[in-house]
Amino acid sequence: MTVGRITVKAGRIAFGVRVLDSRHRTVGAALAQRCLAAYPSLARHACVNGKTDTFGPVIATTSLPHLIEHLAIDIETHDAGNAPTTTFVGATTWIDETQGTAVVELSFVDDLATLDAFNRAVRFVNDAIAELDARVFRIKEK
Ligand SMILES: [Zn+2]
Repeated sequence: MTVGRITVKAGRIAFGVRVLDSRHRTVGAALAQRCLAAYPSLARHACVNGKTDTFGPVIATTSLPHLIEHLAIDIETHDAGNAPTTTFVGATTWIDETQGTAVVELSFVDDLATLDAFNRAVRFVNDAIAELDARVFRIKEK
């Protein structure tokens, strides 16, 4: 996943993202498992997804940008020393799903903390995907 235009708006930041590999436009079970192992509270996030009220049941079948949204919020909530009462809100919209382009919007209290959390979320997911892809490649080689 690559990050394109970043726009700071009143109270929220919009991140243009692109999922380059169409195989990864949906999270999938292996990546979902990896994320939940590292960030277990992801499963309990409130989430408007048309199916349930939480993110856990949809994580494996949702879009990669939607995962980034929740991961960034999780990182910011738990790692950045924010008061536990601070609530962050996000939204993810495909711009063009066939091209893999989407916008992830995150509310912020501290813009730099939100930028850092987003950056860490993208890095975590890209590293996890690279690792999972390498494992698949090794299995195919045998
Ligand atoms: Zn959600």
